[in-house]
Amino acid sequence: MTLRPTTSSALLIDGKLVPSSASGRTFPIINPATEETLGHAADGSAEDMDAAIAAARDAFDNTNWSRDHALRARCLRQLRDALQGHLEELREITIAEVGAPAFFLRGPQLEGPIEDLGYFAGLAETYQWETGLGVARPMGIPSRRTVFREGIGVVGAITPWNFPHQINFAKLGPALAAGNTVVLKPAPDTPWCAALVGKVIAEETDFPPGVINIVTSSDHGLGAQLSADPRVDLISFTGSTATGKAVMVAAADSLKKVFLELGGKSAFIVLDDTDVAGACGMAAFTVATHAGQGCALTTRLLVPREQYDAAVAATAKAMAGLRPGDPADPGTICGPLISATQRARVESYLELAVAEGGTIVCGGGRTQGRERGYYIDPTLIAGVDNSARVAREEIFGPVLVILPHDGDADAIRIANDSPYGLSGAVWGTDPDRVQRVVDGVRTGTLSVNGGIWYAADAPFGGYKQSGIGREMGVAGFEEYLETKLVAYPG
Ligand code: NAD
Repeated sequence: MTLRPTTSSALLIDGKLVPSSASGRTFPIINPATEETLGHAADGSAEDMDAAIAAARDAFDNTNWSRDHALRARCLRQLRDALQGHLEELREITIAEVGAPAFFLRGPQLEGPIEDLGYFAGLAETYQWETGLGVARPMGIPSRRTVFREGIGVVGAITPWNFPHQINFAKLGPALAAGNTVVLKPAPDTPWCAALVGKVIAEETDFPPGVINIVTSSDHGLGAQLSADPRVDLISFTGSTATGKAVMVAAADSLKKVFLELGGKSAFIVLDDTDVAGACGMAAFTVATHAGQGCALTTRLLVPREQYDAAVAATAKAMAGLRPGDPADPGTICGPLISATQRARVESYLELAVAEGGTIVCGGGRTQGRERGYYIDPTLIAGVDNSARVAREEIFGPVLVILPHDGDADAIRIANDSPYGLSGAVWGTDPDRVQRVVDGVRTGTLSVNGGIWYAADAPFGGYKQSGIGREMGVAGFEEYLETKLVAYPG
Protein backbone atom coordinates (compact mmCIF):
# COMPACT_ATOMS: atom_id res chain seq x y z
CA MET A 1 0.00 0.00 0.00
CA THR A 2 1.30 3.44 -0.80
CA LEU A 3 0.23 6.29 1.42
CA ARG A 4 0.54 9.27 -0.91
CA PRO A 5 -2.92 9.99 -2.37
CA THR A 6 -3.04 10.16 -6.16
CA THR A 7 -6.05 12.48 -6.18
CA SER A 8 -7.37 13.38 -2.75
CA SER A 9 -7.18 11.90 0.73
CA ALA A 10 -10.33 10.53 2.36
CA LEU A 11 -12.27 10.95 5.58
CA LEU A 12 -12.45 8.05 8.04
CA ILE A 13 -16.02 7.62 9.28
CA ASP A 14 -17.39 4.48 10.92
CA GLY A 15 -14.46 2.39 9.71
CA LYS A 16 -14.78 3.46 6.05
CA LEU A 17 -12.60 5.74 3.94
CA VAL A 18 -15.06 8.10 2.28
CA PRO A 19 -15.05 11.34 0.25
CA SER A 20 -16.75 14.48 1.53
CA SER A 21 -20.54 14.15 1.53
CA ALA A 22 -20.60 17.59 -0.10
CA SER A 23 -20.30 16.05 -3.59
CA GLY A 24 -16.75 14.90 -2.95
CA ARG A 25 -15.54 18.47 -2.33
CA THR A 26 -11.79 18.85 -1.74
CA PHE A 27 -9.39 21.61 -0.78
CA PRO A 28 -5.78 22.21 -1.80
CA ILE A 29 -2.75 21.65 0.43
CA ILE A 30 0.06 24.15 -0.12
CA ASN A 31 3.71 23.20 0.37
CA PRO A 32 4.98 26.07 2.59
CA ALA A 33 8.55 25.70 1.31
CA THR A 34 7.62 26.12 -2.37
CA GLU A 35 4.07 27.58 -2.41
CA GLU A 36 3.13 24.79 -4.83
CA THR A 37 -0.05 22.76 -4.48
CA LEU A 38 1.01 19.48 -2.95
CA GLY A 39 -2.32 17.74 -3.42
CA HIS A 40 -5.88 17.81 -2.12
CA ALA A 41 -7.74 16.66 0.97
CA ALA A 42 -11.37 15.71 1.47
CA ASP A 43 -13.25 18.81 2.60
CA GLY A 44 -15.48 17.36 5.32
CA SER A 45 -18.90 18.98 5.78
CA ALA A 46 -21.13 19.51 8.82
CA GLU A 47 -22.99 16.34 7.76
CA ASP A 48 -19.73 14.38 7.78
CA MET A 49 -18.92 15.66 11.27
CA ASP A 50 -22.41 14.69 12.39
CA ALA A 51 -21.94 11.15 10.99
CA ALA A 52 -18.51 10.85 12.63
CA ILE A 53 -19.89 11.83 16.05
CA ALA A 54 -22.81 9.39 15.63
CA ALA A 55 -20.36 6.57 14.75
CA ALA A 56 -18.13 7.32 17.74
CA ARG A 57 -21.15 7.44 20.06
CA ASP A 58 -22.45 4.14 18.75
CA ALA A 59 -19.05 2.44 19.05
CA PHE A 60 -18.70 3.58 22.64
CA ASP A 61 -22.27 2.72 23.73
CA ASN A 62 -22.82 -0.49 21.79
CA THR A 63 -19.51 -2.36 21.56
CA ASN A 64 -17.15 -3.90 24.09
CA TRP A 65 -14.31 -1.47 23.18
CA SER A 66 -14.41 0.40 26.47
CA ARG A 67 -14.14 -2.87 28.47
CA ASP A 68 -11.64 -4.77 26.35
CA HIS A 69 -8.25 -3.55 27.56
CA ALA A 70 -6.34 -6.25 25.68
CA LEU A 71 -7.95 -5.37 22.34
CA ARG A 72 -7.08 -1.71 22.85
CA ALA A 73 -3.44 -2.47 23.62
CA ARG A 74 -3.21 -4.78 20.62
CA CYS A 75 -4.76 -2.26 18.19
CA LEU A 76 -2.50 0.57 19.40
CA ARG A 77 0.63 -1.55 18.91
CA GLN A 78 -0.67 -2.66 15.53
CA LEU A 79 -1.07 1.00 14.53
CA ARG A 80 2.44 1.85 15.77
CA ASP A 81 3.96 -1.03 13.81
CA ALA A 82 1.96 -0.27 10.66
CA LEU A 83 3.00 3.40 10.74
CA GLN A 84 6.63 2.39 11.26
CA GLY A 85 6.30 0.39 8.05
CA HIS A 86 5.47 3.65 6.24
CA LEU A 87 8.11 5.89 7.82
CA GLU A 88 9.78 6.93 4.58
CA GLU A 89 6.50 8.09 3.03
CA LEU A 90 5.42 9.79 6.25
CA ARG A 91 8.75 11.61 6.42
CA GLU A 92 8.42 12.88 2.88
CA ILE A 93 4.83 14.00 3.35
CA THR A 94 5.48 15.65 6.72
CA ILE A 95 8.35 17.71 5.31
CA ALA A 96 6.24 18.74 2.32
CA GLU A 97 2.98 19.47 4.15
CA VAL A 98 4.23 20.94 7.45
CA GLY A 99 7.52 22.43 6.22
CA ALA A 100 9.02 20.54 9.16
CA PRO A 101 12.82 20.31 9.08
CA ALA A 102 13.94 16.71 8.52
CA PHE A 103 16.27 17.18 11.50
CA PHE A 104 13.30 16.98 13.93
CA LEU A 105 11.51 14.01 12.36
CA ARG A 106 13.51 11.52 14.43
CA GLY A 107 12.18 13.22 17.57
CA PRO A 108 8.86 14.88 18.41
CA GLN A 109 7.88 15.72 14.83
CA LEU A 110 7.28 12.09 13.73
CA GLU A 111 9.15 9.05 15.02
CA GLY A 112 8.87 9.85 18.75
CA PRO A 113 5.06 10.15 18.72
CA ILE A 114 4.63 6.94 16.70
CA GLU A 115 6.80 5.09 19.22
CA ASP A 116 4.79 6.65 22.07
CA LEU A 117 1.69 4.69 20.96
CA GLY A 118 3.42 1.68 22.52
CA TYR A 119 3.64 3.51 25.85
CA PHE A 120 -0.11 4.14 25.85
CA ALA A 121 -0.78 0.51 24.82
CA GLY A 122 1.20 -0.47 27.92
CA LEU A 123 -0.96 1.75 30.12
CA ALA A 124 -4.12 0.01 28.81
CA GLU A 125 -2.67 -3.23 30.19
CA THR A 126 -1.01 -2.13 33.42
CA TYR A 127 -3.15 0.74 34.72
CA GLN A 128 -4.92 0.06 38.01
CA TRP A 129 -8.53 0.22 36.82
CA GLU A 130 -9.97 -0.79 40.18
CA THR A 131 -8.99 0.26 43.72
CA GLY A 132 -10.56 -1.10 46.89
CA LEU A 133 -11.16 1.47 49.64
CA GLY A 134 -12.05 -1.16 52.23
CA VAL A 135 -15.04 -1.15 54.55
CA ALA A 136 -16.48 1.98 56.16
CA ARG A 137 -19.59 2.37 58.33
CA PRO A 138 -21.49 5.44 57.16
CA MET A 139 -24.55 5.78 59.44
CA GLY A 140 -23.48 2.50 61.06
CA ILE A 141 -24.02 0.43 57.89
CA PRO A 142 -20.91 -1.53 56.89
CA SER A 143 -20.11 -0.83 53.24
CA ARG A 144 -17.25 -2.11 51.11
CA ARG A 145 -16.22 0.53 48.56
CA THR A 146 -14.48 0.12 45.21
CA VAL A 147 -13.33 2.89 42.87
CA PHE A 148 -13.49 2.00 39.16
CA ARG A 149 -11.82 4.08 36.46
CA GLU A 150 -13.31 3.96 32.95
CA GLY A 151 -13.34 5.86 29.69
CA ILE A 152 -15.31 9.11 29.60
CA GLY A 153 -17.05 8.28 26.32
CA VAL A 154 -16.72 10.15 23.03
CA VAL A 155 -13.64 12.38 22.79
CA GLY A 156 -13.51 15.24 20.31
CA ALA A 157 -9.84 15.91 19.49
CA ILE A 158 -9.03 19.22 17.79
CA THR A 159 -5.42 19.80 16.74
CA PRO A 160 -3.15 22.46 15.19
CA TRP A 161 -0.64 22.22 12.34
CA ASN A 162 2.76 22.83 13.91
CA PHE A 163 3.48 19.34 15.31
CA PRO A 164 0.57 17.41 13.78
CA HIS A 165 1.75 13.85 14.51
CA GLN A 166 2.89 14.61 18.03
CA ILE A 167 -0.37 16.30 18.94
CA ASN A 168 -2.65 13.85 17.07
CA PHE A 169 -1.00 10.84 18.76
CA ALA A 170 -0.75 12.54 22.17
CA LYS A 171 -4.56 12.62 22.01
CA LEU A 172 -5.38 9.40 20.13
CA GLY A 173 -2.96 7.27 22.20
CA PRO A 174 -4.25 7.96 25.71
CA ALA A 175 -7.88 8.54 24.68
CA LEU A 176 -8.08 5.13 22.97
CA ALA A 177 -6.00 3.31 25.60
CA ALA A 178 -8.41 4.64 28.24
CA GLY A 179 -11.37 3.10 26.39
CA ASN A 180 -12.85 6.10 24.64
CA THR A 181 -13.87 6.52 21.04
CA VAL A 182 -12.58 9.54 19.14
CA VAL A 183 -13.46 12.07 16.47
CA LEU A 184 -10.26 13.80 15.32
CA LYS A 185 -10.50 17.17 13.57
CA PRO A 186 -7.03 18.18 12.38
CA ALA A 187 -5.99 21.67 11.28
CA PRO A 188 -6.87 22.71 7.71
CA ASP A 189 -3.18 23.39 6.97
CA THR A 190 -2.04 19.80 7.61
CA PRO A 191 -4.89 17.42 6.69
CA TRP A 192 -2.73 14.72 5.08
CA CYS A 193 -0.76 13.99 8.26
CA ALA A 194 -4.05 12.91 9.86
CA ALA A 195 -5.77 11.46 6.78
CA LEU A 196 -2.87 9.12 6.06
CA VAL A 197 -3.09 7.78 9.60
CA GLY A 198 -6.79 7.21 8.88
CA LYS A 199 -5.88 5.18 5.80
CA VAL A 200 -3.47 3.02 7.81
CA ILE A 201 -6.10 2.50 10.52
CA ALA A 202 -8.73 1.42 7.98
CA GLU A 203 -6.49 -0.83 5.91
CA GLU A 204 -3.94 -2.27 8.33
CA THR A 205 -5.44 -2.45 11.83
CA ASP A 206 -8.29 -4.13 13.69
CA PHE A 207 -9.75 -1.00 15.32
CA PRO A 208 -13.52 -1.63 15.29
CA PRO A 209 -15.59 0.71 13.06
CA GLY A 210 -16.43 4.01 14.72
CA VAL A 211 -13.71 3.83 17.36
CA ILE A 212 -11.59 6.37 15.45
CA ASN A 213 -13.08 8.87 13.03
CA ILE A 214 -11.04 11.52 11.21
CA VAL A 215 -12.70 14.49 9.55
CA THR A 216 -10.41 16.80 7.59
CA SER A 217 -11.95 20.09 6.47
CA SER A 218 -11.09 23.61 5.36
CA ASP A 219 -13.87 24.82 7.68
CA HIS A 220 -12.86 25.75 11.27
CA GLY A 221 -16.61 25.63 12.01
CA LEU A 222 -16.42 21.85 12.26
CA GLY A 223 -14.30 22.29 15.39
CA ALA A 224 -17.00 24.52 16.86
CA GLN A 225 -19.64 21.95 15.91
CA LEU A 226 -17.69 19.16 17.61
CA SER A 227 -17.18 21.32 20.73
CA ALA A 228 -20.90 22.04 21.06
CA ASP A 229 -22.35 18.61 20.24
CA PRO A 230 -24.01 17.05 23.32
CA ARG A 231 -23.07 13.51 22.19
CA VAL A 232 -19.41 14.37 22.82
CA ASP A 233 -18.23 13.90 26.43
CA LEU A 234 -14.78 15.55 26.34
CA ILE A 235 -13.02 18.02 24.07
CA SER A 236 -9.26 17.65 23.97
CA PHE A 237 -8.03 20.79 22.23
CA THR A 238 -4.60 22.07 21.26
CA GLY A 239 -4.32 25.45 19.59
CA SER A 240 -4.30 29.15 20.33
CA THR A 241 -5.59 30.59 23.59
CA ALA A 242 -8.27 32.60 21.74
CA THR A 243 -9.68 29.46 20.10
CA GLY A 244 -9.38 27.55 23.38
CA LYS A 245 -11.66 30.11 25.02
CA ALA A 246 -14.19 29.72 22.17
CA VAL A 247 -14.09 25.94 22.64
CA MET A 248 -14.78 26.33 26.36
CA VAL A 249 -17.77 28.57 25.66
CA ALA A 250 -19.15 26.17 23.04
CA ALA A 251 -18.70 23.21 25.40
CA ALA A 252 -20.38 24.94 28.33
CA ASP A 253 -23.96 24.36 27.28
CA SER A 254 -23.60 20.57 27.44
CA LEU A 255 -21.17 20.94 30.39
CA LYS A 256 -18.65 18.61 28.82
CA LYS A 257 -15.13 18.37 30.15
CA VAL A 258 -12.55 20.46 28.29
CA PHE A 259 -8.87 19.75 28.22
CA LEU A 260 -6.87 22.63 26.72
CA GLU A 261 -3.25 22.90 25.52
CA LEU A 262 -2.79 26.53 24.47
CA GLY A 263 -0.25 29.21 23.67
CA GLY A 264 2.87 30.44 25.43
CA LYS A 265 5.40 33.25 25.74
CA SER A 266 8.01 31.37 27.69
CA ALA A 267 11.08 32.90 29.34
CA PHE A 268 14.68 31.74 28.94
CA ILE A 269 16.34 33.00 32.14
CA VAL A 270 20.10 33.46 32.19
CA LEU A 271 21.64 33.96 35.66
CA ASP A 272 24.80 36.02 36.12
CA ASP A 273 26.96 33.08 37.26
CA THR A 274 26.89 31.24 33.94
CA ASP A 275 28.40 31.47 30.47
CA VAL A 276 25.98 34.13 29.22
CA ALA A 277 27.15 34.01 25.59
CA GLY A 278 26.78 30.20 25.48
CA ALA A 279 23.28 30.39 26.98
CA CYS A 280 22.29 33.08 24.46
CA GLY A 281 23.48 30.84 21.63
CA MET A 282 21.16 28.14 22.89
CA ALA A 283 18.26 30.61 23.14
CA ALA A 284 18.86 31.65 19.51
CA PHE A 285 18.89 28.02 18.38
CA THR A 286 15.68 27.30 20.30
CA VAL A 287 13.65 30.13 18.77
CA ALA A 288 14.83 29.28 15.25
CA THR A 289 13.69 25.66 15.66
CA HIS A 290 10.90 24.92 13.15
CA ALA A 291 10.81 28.68 12.48
CA GLY A 292 9.61 29.34 16.03
CA GLN A 293 6.37 27.43 15.45
CA GLY A 294 6.32 25.65 18.77
CA CYS A 295 4.06 26.57 21.67
CA ALA A 296 6.74 25.72 24.25
CA LEU A 297 9.69 27.43 22.56
CA THR A 298 11.26 30.17 24.67
CA THR A 299 10.58 33.55 23.04
CA ARG A 300 11.68 35.97 25.79
CA LEU A 301 15.38 35.96 26.69
CA LEU A 302 16.06 37.42 30.16
CA VAL A 303 19.72 38.36 30.70
CA PRO A 304 21.59 40.17 33.51
CA ARG A 305 21.33 43.94 32.89
CA GLU A 306 25.08 44.52 33.28
CA GLN A 307 25.72 41.99 30.50
CA TYR A 308 22.84 43.12 28.24
CA ASP A 309 24.94 44.54 25.38
CA ALA A 310 27.24 41.52 25.28
CA ALA A 311 24.23 39.20 25.38
CA VAL A 312 22.56 41.05 22.48
CA ALA A 313 25.75 40.72 20.43
CA ALA A 314 26.17 37.01 21.25
CA THR A 315 22.54 36.22 20.42
CA ALA A 316 22.66 38.11 17.12
CA LYS A 317 25.88 36.33 16.16
CA ALA A 318 24.32 32.93 16.85
CA MET A 319 21.15 33.86 14.92
CA ALA A 320 23.14 34.90 11.89
CA GLY A 321 24.35 31.31 11.63
CA LEU A 322 20.80 29.95 11.60
CA ARG A 323 19.70 31.00 8.13
CA PRO A 324 16.39 29.43 7.07
CA GLY A 325 16.69 26.63 4.57
CA ASP A 326 14.94 23.85 2.69
CA PRO A 327 13.27 21.62 5.31
CA ALA A 328 14.34 18.52 3.38
CA ASP A 329 18.00 19.44 3.94
CA PRO A 330 19.18 17.47 7.02
CA GLY A 331 21.17 20.50 8.23
CA THR A 332 18.16 22.84 8.34
CA ILE A 333 16.89 23.98 11.76
CA CYS A 334 14.68 26.85 10.59
CA GLY A 335 12.29 25.99 7.76
CA PRO A 336 9.40 28.06 6.39
CA LEU A 337 6.35 29.35 8.24
CA ILE A 338 3.21 27.35 7.53
CA SER A 339 1.35 29.86 5.33
CA ALA A 340 1.23 33.31 3.79
CA THR A 341 -1.27 34.25 6.53
CA GLN A 342 1.14 33.25 9.27
CA ARG A 343 3.99 35.10 7.57
CA ALA A 344 1.87 38.26 7.34
CA ARG A 345 1.07 37.93 11.04
CA VAL A 346 4.75 37.62 11.97
CA GLU A 347 5.64 40.58 9.73
CA SER A 348 2.99 42.70 11.43
CA TYR A 349 4.69 41.97 14.78
CA LEU A 350 8.06 43.02 13.35
CA GLU A 351 6.51 46.38 12.35
CA LEU A 352 4.93 46.63 15.79
CA ALA A 353 8.32 46.09 17.48
CA VAL A 354 9.67 49.20 15.78
CA ALA A 355 6.48 51.16 16.50
CA GLU A 356 6.89 50.22 20.18
CA GLY A 357 10.39 51.72 20.22
CA GLY A 358 12.30 48.46 19.81
CA THR A 359 15.35 47.76 17.70
CA ILE A 360 15.56 44.90 15.23
CA VAL A 361 19.10 43.74 15.92
CA CYS A 362 19.18 41.04 13.25
CA GLY A 363 16.75 39.43 10.83
CA GLY A 364 13.54 41.43 10.60
CA GLY A 365 12.07 40.21 7.34
CA ARG A 366 11.89 37.71 4.52
CA THR A 367 14.89 35.55 3.70
CA GLN A 368 16.85 36.81 0.74
CA GLY A 369 17.36 34.27 -2.02
CA ARG A 370 14.18 32.41 -1.05
CA GLU A 371 11.57 34.12 -3.17
CA ARG A 372 9.29 31.07 -3.03
CA GLY A 373 8.15 29.75 0.35
CA TYR A 374 7.12 31.53 3.53
CA TYR A 375 10.58 32.13 4.99
CA ILE A 376 11.41 34.73 7.65
CA ASP A 377 14.91 35.26 9.04
CA PRO A 378 15.47 34.56 12.75
CA THR A 379 14.97 37.94 14.37
CA LEU A 380 16.17 39.53 17.61
CA ILE A 381 14.24 42.44 19.12
CA ALA A 382 16.01 44.57 21.74
CA GLY A 383 15.26 47.85 23.49
CA VAL A 384 11.71 47.09 24.71
CA ASP A 385 10.54 46.15 28.19
CA ASN A 386 8.16 43.39 29.23
CA SER A 387 5.10 45.63 28.83
CA ALA A 388 5.57 45.80 25.02
CA ARG A 389 3.04 43.78 23.05
CA VAL A 390 5.89 41.97 21.28
CA ALA A 391 7.02 40.77 24.72
CA ARG A 392 3.51 39.73 25.82
CA GLU A 393 1.80 38.23 22.78
CA GLU A 394 2.54 34.96 21.04
CA ILE A 395 4.11 35.70 17.63
CA PHE A 396 4.64 32.08 16.49
CA GLY A 397 7.65 32.81 14.30
CA PRO A 398 11.46 32.82 14.75
CA VAL A 399 11.36 36.00 16.82
CA LEU A 400 13.12 36.50 20.15
CA VAL A 401 12.72 39.49 22.49
CA ILE A 402 15.75 40.15 24.73
CA LEU A 403 15.03 41.81 28.09
CA PRO A 404 17.37 42.86 30.93
CA HIS A 405 16.81 41.65 34.52
CA ASP A 406 18.22 42.93 37.83
CA GLY A 407 18.95 39.64 39.57
CA ASP A 408 17.20 36.33 40.21
CA ALA A 409 14.08 37.72 41.92
CA ASP A 410 13.58 40.26 39.14
CA ALA A 411 14.00 37.54 36.51
CA ILE A 412 11.27 35.48 38.22
CA ARG A 413 9.02 38.57 38.35
CA ILE A 414 9.45 39.26 34.63
CA ALA A 415 9.00 35.59 33.66
CA ASN A 416 5.74 35.49 35.61
CA ASP A 417 4.50 38.83 34.27
CA SER A 418 2.70 37.10 31.41
CA PRO A 419 -0.80 35.77 30.80
CA TYR A 420 0.87 32.49 29.82
CA GLY A 421 2.73 29.81 31.79
CA LEU A 422 3.61 27.01 29.40
CA SER A 423 7.35 26.43 29.50
CA GLY A 424 10.74 28.02 30.12
CA ALA A 425 14.45 27.55 30.67
CA VAL A 426 16.95 28.45 33.39
CA TRP A 427 20.73 28.64 32.93
CA GLY A 428 22.99 28.99 35.97
CA THR A 429 25.77 27.17 37.80
CA ASP A 430 24.72 27.40 41.47
CA PRO A 431 22.16 24.60 42.03
CA ASP A 432 20.49 26.38 44.97
CA ARG A 433 19.99 29.58 43.00
CA VAL A 434 18.72 27.63 40.01
CA GLN A 435 16.26 25.72 42.19
CA ARG A 436 14.94 28.95 43.74
CA VAL A 437 14.24 30.25 40.24
CA VAL A 438 12.59 26.94 39.27
CA ASP A 439 10.41 27.19 42.39
CA GLY A 440 9.43 30.78 41.60
CA VAL A 441 8.45 30.48 37.93
CA ARG A 442 4.79 29.59 37.38
CA THR A 443 4.96 27.37 34.34
CA GLY A 444 4.15 23.79 33.34
CA THR A 445 7.58 22.67 32.09
CA LEU A 446 11.11 23.96 32.64
CA SER A 447 14.47 23.04 31.17
CA VAL A 448 17.57 23.55 33.36
CA ASN A 449 20.92 23.99 31.60
CA GLY A 450 19.67 22.31 28.43
CA GLY A 451 17.70 19.40 29.95
CA ILE A 452 14.98 18.06 27.60
CA TRP A 453 11.59 17.38 29.16
CA TYR A 454 9.82 15.82 26.16
CA ALA A 455 9.00 12.10 26.60
CA ALA A 456 5.96 9.80 26.50
CA ASP A 457 5.86 9.52 30.31
CA ALA A 458 6.37 13.26 30.94
CA PRO A 459 3.21 15.31 31.68
CA PHE A 460 3.13 18.45 29.55
CA GLY A 461 0.79 21.43 29.86
CA GLY A 462 0.31 24.96 31.00
CA TYR A 463 -0.41 27.21 33.96
CA LYS A 464 -2.65 30.26 33.61
CA GLN A 465 -3.90 30.95 30.06
CA SER A 466 -1.63 28.27 28.60
CA GLY A 467 -4.20 25.62 29.33
CA ILE A 468 -6.11 23.27 31.57
CA GLY A 469 -4.89 19.72 32.19
CA ARG A 470 -1.83 17.71 31.18
CA GLU A 471 -0.96 15.76 28.05
CA MET A 472 1.27 12.62 27.99
CA GLY A 473 2.31 10.49 30.92
CA VAL A 474 -0.06 8.92 33.43
CA ALA A 475 -1.51 12.38 34.15
CA GLY A 476 -2.32 12.77 30.44
CA PHE A 477 -3.94 9.31 30.35
CA GLU A 478 -6.08 10.08 33.40
CA GLU A 479 -7.52 13.17 31.69
CA TYR A 480 -9.51 10.69 29.59
CA LEU A 481 -10.95 8.71 32.52
CA GLU A 482 -14.10 8.96 34.59
CA THR A 483 -14.29 7.78 38.21
CA LYS A 484 -17.07 5.50 39.41
CA LEU A 485 -17.40 4.74 43.12
CA VAL A 486 -19.45 1.65 44.01
CA ALA A 487 -20.49 0.66 47.54
CA TYR A 488 -21.35 -3.00 48.33
CA PRO A 489 -22.68 -4.38 51.60
CA GLY A 490 -19.60 -4.76 53.88
P1 NAD B 1 -5.87 27.56 16.12
O1 NAD B 1 -6.36 27.84 17.49
O2 NAD B 1 -6.11 28.58 15.06
O3 NAD B 1 -6.49 26.21 15.55
C1 NAD B 1 -6.35 24.98 16.23
C2 NAD B 1 -7.45 24.05 15.79
O4 NAD B 1 -8.70 24.59 16.23
C3 NAD B 1 -7.57 23.84 14.28
O5 NAD B 1 -7.89 22.48 14.05
C4 NAD B 1 -8.75 24.73 13.91
O6 NAD B 1 -9.43 24.34 12.74
C5 NAD B 1 -9.63 24.59 15.14
N1 NAD B 1 -10.59 25.69 15.35
C6 NAD B 1 -10.55 26.95 14.86
N2 NAD B 1 -11.60 27.67 15.33
C7 NAD B 1 -12.29 26.84 16.14
C8 NAD B 1 -13.45 27.00 16.96
N3 NAD B 1 -14.11 28.15 17.03
N4 NAD B 1 -13.88 25.94 17.69
C9 NAD B 1 -13.20 24.77 17.66
N5 NAD B 1 -12.10 24.55 16.91
C10 NAD B 1 -11.65 25.58 16.16
O7 NAD B 1 -4.31 27.25 16.28
P2 NAD B 1 -3.25 27.00 15.13
O8 NAD B 1 -2.96 28.30 14.48
O9 NAD B 1 -3.67 25.83 14.31
O10 NAD B 1 -1.97 26.55 16.02
C11 NAD B 1 -1.11 27.44 16.64
C12 NAD B 1 -1.49 27.64 18.09
O11 NAD B 1 -1.51 26.39 18.77
C13 NAD B 1 -0.49 28.50 18.84
O12 NAD B 1 -1.19 29.41 19.65
C14 NAD B 1 0.27 27.50 19.70
O13 NAD B 1 0.85 28.04 20.86
C15 NAD B 1 -0.79 26.51 20.01
N6 NAD B 1 -0.21 25.21 20.37
C16 NAD B 1 -0.25 24.80 21.67
C17 NAD B 1 0.33 23.59 22.04
C18 NAD B 1 0.30 23.11 23.47
O14 NAD B 1 0.47 21.91 23.68
N7 NAD B 1 0.08 23.95 24.45
C19 NAD B 1 0.96 22.80 21.08
C20 NAD B 1 1.00 23.25 19.78
C21 NAD B 1 0.40 24.45 19.42
